[in-house]
Amino acid sequence: MAFRVLTAELAHETNTFSCRGTGEQAFKDRYVLVGEEAISARGEANTELAGFLDAGRAHGWQIEHVVSASAGPSGRVKRAAFEWLCDPIVAAVECGQFDGILLGLHGAMVLDFCEDGDGEILGRIRAALREETPIAITLDSHANVSPLMCSLADIMVSFRTYPHLDMRETGRRAGAILHRTMAGEIRPRTIRVRRPMLEEVNGGRTDAGPMIPRLVAAKDYEEQADVFAVSINAGFASTDVPYVGPTVLVTGEGDIDGHTAFAETLADDIWSKRHEVMNDYLTVEAAAAIAAAFDAQGGPLVIADYADNPGAGGYGDSTALLGALLDAGVRNACFGPMVDGEAAQELHRCSVGEHVQIVLGGKIDAAFGGGPLRLEGELVLISDGHYVGDGPMLGGLSRCFGPSAVLRVDGIEILIVTVPNQMLDLQQFKSFGIEPEPKSIIALKSMQHFRAAFEPIAGQVIVCDSGALCTLHYERLPYRNVPRPIFPLDRDMR
Ligand SMILES: [Zn+2]
Repeated sequence: MAFRVLTAELAHETNTFSCRGTGEQAFKDRYVLVGEEAISARGEANTELAGFLDAGRAHGWQIEHVVSASAGPSGRVKRAAFEWLCDPIVAAVECGQFDGILLGLHGAMVLDFCEDGDGEILGRIRAALREETPIAITLDSHANVSPLMCSLADIMVSFRTYPHLDMRETGRRAGAILHRTMAGEIRPRTIRVRRPMLEEVNGGRTDAGPMIPRLVAAKDYEEQADVFAVSINAGFASTDVPYVGPTVLVTGEGDIDGHTAFAETLADDIWSKRHEVMNDYLTVEAAAAIAAAFDAQGGPLVIADYADNPGAGGYGDSTALLGALLDAGVRNACFGPMVDGEAAQELHRCSVGEHVQIVLGGKIDAAFGGGPLRLEGELVLISDGHYVGDGPMLGGLSRCFGPSAVLRVDGIEILIVTVPNQMLDLQQFKSFGIEPEPKSIIALKSMQHFRAAFEPIAGQVIVCDSGALCTLHYERLPYRNVPRPIFPLDRDMR
């Protein structure tokens, strides 16, 4: 008889320092797709859901997919939005008689009434299940994994790439383990070890550095018959919760003490290499000086503003880098995004080709990344902000910046948008008439994901810290709930 499996995706990476609470509209701005609608939008792309469906086809499951929903990283998720999305999942569990539950979570969701949003989802589902039904979850490798999550989910499988390129494969892996569990072949549980750090020092990047040998060791350990998944989570530093930080998870059975000892060796490695930071985080002035002198014959200079990454809850309206590039007089450049819905609306009332004056960016919190810039330029394009990705992360998926415009100021084409989106796909420029390849300078807001699509066209990549909300100067952030001492906030941990 075919197993009946409930699937859902509900993901949020909460930056608890953001003053922008996350309500229903923030999810609608990213995606809220119900049942078949989610399957047709996401079922063939690089998504966890596609991997769940692959597993279902391979094993002949009967799948009921409830919802796929995600909002861009931002402040705490409001109760009404959380319940609007979580209640239908719990209701489906209650009346469904499922053999297994398979969920795509992020693992860093914080609610305005509860610090452990992912634990809350799992707790409600567990309470609605009549029997010991196995629960399998996938996680982003920027998950902050709580002990509660491990006690409620049997199977936990995290991405093994950053830039994240293995969403579908992760879904498939979790599905395969769930299948063996439903079949009664195995009885997995997940153990967790953690180190007192805000995050792994390279954010868990897997294109270079110490995560590469760690992942090799993890895969080797998975060869054991009683080990089903080893997950290494970098953690997410902008979430002020007691269980913040890097974790190593082993989903297995049998020799649990042995599995824990193995996880400790990886966690020790994360701790001992806490000073091996790979990026050189430049000031915006230093980045602009490199840009002004750059010879783009071998391809453009890509400048990533790490600190204003909307993909980590940065407001996306930091002006420090743009101001420095304008001051340095760079030419043949593009910059994106500048998140400023007010400016975008204002530009939508102008005509393309018009010479305009606007006050741009820096409006949410000038203390993080600079105040508004007074600019004059030519309005090049206005748009509703829709685009369809064509890169390794977003290929075939449609996203939206909301009302958007392109303004040319001196030598820089500035993409001005309403809805914050991290830059990780060339279509985020191309769909708005900005061709990145022939540019000399591409300035964008992203920490690491941009590398997947932009490194192949870049002559050189540099990274800067504009002082925006995701700054590496953690001492500027009002941490209250993380356990102390913790690296790198406390002197005795350095
Ligand atoms: Zn991530």
